Amino acid sequence: MMDRNVPFGKPMIDEMERRAVLEVLSGDVLVHGPKTKEFEKKFAEYTKAPFALSLNSCTAGLHLAYLGFNIGPGDEVIVPAQTHVATVHAVELAGAKPVFVDADPKTGNIDVSQIESKITSKTKAISVVHFLGLPADMPAIMKIANKHKLKVVEDCALAIGSSIDGKHMGLFGDIGLFSFYPVKHITTIEGGMAIMKDEKLATVINYKKAFGVDRVVGERKVPGQYDVLMLGLNYRMNEVEAAVGVCQMTKLDGILAKREENFRALRKALSDVDELEHLDYGNDRVKSSYYCQSVILKDSIAKRREDIMAAMTQKGIGTSIYYPSPVPHFTYYKDKYGFTEDTFLNAKRISKQSIAFSVGPHLNSEDMEYVAFHLKEILTKFK
Ligand SMILES: *Cc1c(COP(=O)(O)O)cnc(C)c1O
Repeated sequence: MMDRNVPFGKPMIDEMERRAVLEVLSGDVLVHGPKTKEFEKKFAEYTKAPFALSLNSCTAGLHLAYLGFNIGPGDEVIVPAQTHVATVHAVELAGAKPVFVDADPKTGNIDVSQIESKITSKTKAISVVHFLGLPADMPAIMKIANKHKLKVVEDCALAIGSSIDGKHMGLFGDIGLFSFYPVKHITTIEGGMAIMKDEKLATVINYKKAFGVDRVVGERKVPGQYDVLMLGLNYRMNEVEAAVGVCQMTKLDGILAKREENFRALRKALSDVDELEHLDYGNDRVKSSYYCQSVILKDSIAKRREDIMAAMTQKGIGTSIYYPSPVPHFTYYKDKYGFTEDTFLNAKRISKQSIAFSVGPHLNSEDMEYVAFHLKEILTKFK
């Protein structure tokens, strides 16, 4: 097979974004302007969210969520062990204690059957991540949350386009946070979005993302005059980023369709490989955003993961790992809470035995064939 170059991630930026950025830079309004409003409106329309607020990252939004709920010292938040560390850092930054739940080995999402046993009188919220874009079982999670009167935070960083029965992720819980970091589904370079249904929460998040001041530039009767209603941060998105976001929204449907097509092609090509196990990827009702294809190496060959990844790199194929460790096993969390390595074994197995392949829109079906061909060949060699 002819050699190809199959990078893991590639932002879909072209002349449209470049022109939009130059237009903003040629004007006088770089923050608090019409582009952030336009991006928020488009995002709200796409997700059918009553409220959408732009932010400078998903992490900022996760942090604001706990501040907005007044969750802090003395409180506990249930979190998935298998996620990006930002999901959990946000709880720590708010001063609350994360209480980890292991992954469901079939999906990588939080094991819903273990949630209730972790709830105490201090529990204030459940945080979930939609692992690699596959929706967590929100109907079941909301049942538990409602029974115990808990807030629900959805880390939707990889879940744009993900839905259950047509309802977009982020709208099941109290708040959903999205990321526009360069290798996510769409990018604003750095950036994030919060969606929610409750107007009161939207008002608080809107204040807290901008110092807690009562009116932004443009709303001030006397220039420079404002009051501060509450504690806040500077977590705003700027006009340049928002202009990129507006362009990216026009490409979103195409990007998602291409990801699904690539995902299905690669899954099919790898379905008969003995050395591999596959995670669930949803169905007609539970729709994934197909962030990447993470394959689990069977125990017999798992020790060779790094060799397999290196051999794939040799063939021009980019790989990654989601995530390199269960969050409670990262040094910071291990040192603080004393977790040992023999905990969260389902999350650990995914962390230590999986390899992720891109299904990004910069790739096509021939790239998927190329990846499958070389993975099979390399696996045979390391058997
Ligand atoms: C990328 C990512 C984040 C962090 O997003 P930022 O916008 O970089 O802050 C959080 N959670 C998950 C699941 C992610 O994939």
